[in-house]
This record gives sequence, C-alpha cells and structure tokens, in this order.
Amino acid sequence: MKIAVIPGDGIGKEVTEATIHILSALDLPLTYEFGEAGDECLKKEGSALPEDTLKLAKKSDAVLFGAVGESAADVIVKLRKELDLFANVRPVKCYPGIECIRKDIDLTIVRENTECLYSGIERYTDEGAEAVRVITRKACERICEFAFKIANEKVTAVHKANVLKKTDGLFREVFYEVAEGYPEIEAEDVYVDAMALYLITKPQDFDVLVTTNLYGDILSDEAAGLVGGLGLAPSANIGEKNSLFEPVHGSAPDIAGKGIANPTAMILSSVMMLRHLGFEREGDLVENALIEVLREGKVTPDLGGNLKTMEMAEEIRKYVLEAK
Ligand code: ATP
Ligand code: MG
Repeated sequence: MKIAVIPGDGIGKEVTEATIHILSALDLPLTYEFGEAGDECLKKEGSALPEDTLKLAKKSDAVLFGAVGESAADVIVKLRKELDLFANVRPVKCYPGIECIRKDIDLTIVRENTECLYSGIERYTDEGAEAVRVITRKACERICEFAFKIANEKVTAVHKANVLKKTDGLFREVFYEVAEGYPEIEAEDVYVDAMALYLITKPQDFDVLVTTNLYGDILSDEAAGLVGGLGLAPSANIGEKNSLFEPVHGSAPDIAGKGIANPTAMILSSVMMLRHLGFEREGDLVENALIEVLREGKVTPDLGGNLKTMEMAEEIRKYVLEAK
C-alpha cells in the first residue's frame, strides 16, 4: 500500500520525521512517498498545493499530513474537498501522565466535514450580512452511518432542532432512521448547548458523538482541552475512497526549528491510519509503546519533560521493536 506523506511547514516536518521513524520499525507492506505543500512550497514552486502533490494524495491508500502555516485554507481545505473527505474524526482520550479533568474519558467526535454553515455561501445585505446553512439528506446519512459503524455502545447526535427545526430537524430525523439499522447500538440525541456542558460535567458517559460541521468544530476543540490540549490531539479525515490523517495542531512557528515539538498528536494520527488500513495489531503496538513512554515521563518540554522530538520518538521506537 502507498502512503502519501505531506510534512508541510514548521513543526509539521519535525513531527512527521518522528512518526516515520517509529512506523519504519514495523514490518508492514507500506511504501512512503513524500509530497510538498504549504508556505515554503508556495515560495519555492509558486503553489501551496502543487498538482503533483494532489495527484500523489489521490492515488495513495492514505495521506499522512503534518501541518501547514498560513496557506492552510489553500492546502488542507482543498485536499478535504478534492478527496471528498466527508467525515472528520477526533478521538478524545485520557493518557497516563497527562493532566485531564477525568481519567475515564474515551469518546470520539464525528463531524460532518462538507456542508452546514461552512458551505461558503455568505453575502452582504442592505442590513448587514447573512450566511446559508446547507444540510442535505445524503450528507446526514453518510455521516450517521459512519458514526454507527465505529461505535461500540452508543451514538449521541448533537443538534439544535428545537430552534433550527428544518436543518437540524432533518439531521435528527435521518439520525434515527440510520439508527434503526444498528439495533445493538444505543441511539440518543442531545442539544448542542447541553453537550457543551456535558463534555465538562460527564464526558465519561459518551462513546461516539455525531454532529454537523459548525458544532463539531467547536465541540472538538473543547474536548481536546479536556485531555491535555493540542500537542496530543490526533484526527482523521475519511472519504469513500481516500483518507487523510493529521494532528489537530498547526505549524507552531513559535517553536519550529528547535526540535522540541511534541510528536504525540502526529503519532496518534498514524495509529488511526494503521487501524483504518486494517493493521489493528500494529496500531495497538504503537499506541501501547507511546503509553509506556508517556507513563515514564520520557516526553517533550510542553509535557514537563526534557526530551527532544526525535529522542522521544527513539524511546517509542525501542518499545515497538521490543514488543513486535
Ligand atoms: P498555525 O498558524 O500553523 O496554526 P499556530 O501559531 O496557530 O500555527 P498551533 O500549531 O496551532 O500554532 O499551536 C498553538 C500553540 O500550541 C503554539 O504556542 C504552539 O507552540 C503550541 N503547540 C502546538 N502544537 C504543539 C506540539 N506538537 N508540541 C508542542 N507545542 C505545540
Ligand atoms: Mg493554529
């Protein structure tokens, strides 16, 4: 299988190098092909996402994406669109040695990635401005199907159908239609304002949350804050054919070039990639090695340690080699 690796800018490159160092310790039938994108690429090649890179991404079995700086809209937003990556998936989990508001948090937010208020239909009016919120039955169906497929116990639909009766009303209706196909999984729905509260008061009660684009955007950052923040949060963007895995953080120009970026979010993104490609065992292997290293405090400065990015990666690689 072919992995398209797009390291990007700033710490994107550093955490990508660390992650490939670990993945290369596994004996997997994977080949890595590198593509350029981002601010530096724009300066050098005149395009933030050259045709070659886009082609590489389209032809790959999965894309591993670091981070890009100011050209993010031209790169990642375009990739999501071109590859039709309709589901944004963010696991929210508390790891040992990390300060979390509760130890037993283990939920996943599934966010619809192609429509809602982010459809880009916005205009000025005589009185001010307005935006159009697009919700289609097809997008609701495929995002809800996706959520039920990955759930173990329960799926919670998050919406505001008491106020947005037509748009969120449709989302909730389709959610329960899809739920009928999964009788073994509990289905419930919660208003988005209540969900913002529950994430703080009882996050341990949830398994999979499924929601539209805007609510998902806001709730997933809130949720990342519950379990240690940006340096730890991985994500997946999944489509029918393609998939792309990336840390939630950006290129972090303030620490780029120092070799101290925390590679955890990128490593966990690669764990999601391994599992998505069917390499469950290898995904577990890497995640468990990371857990060991976090537990021992062999970590980067943002987590209170004194290791460099590649030193932390080397520790994880050692555990992977021992355990495989
Ligand atoms: P961009 O414009 O690329 O999004 P940014 O300045 O918004 O860059 P982020 O990457 O979003 O930077 O990070 C916000 C803050 O969190 C920065 O201070 C950054 O140093 C810190 N940070 C983000 N990711 C990491 C990481 N992996 N390790 C350590 N610190 C991080
Ligand atoms: Mg940012």
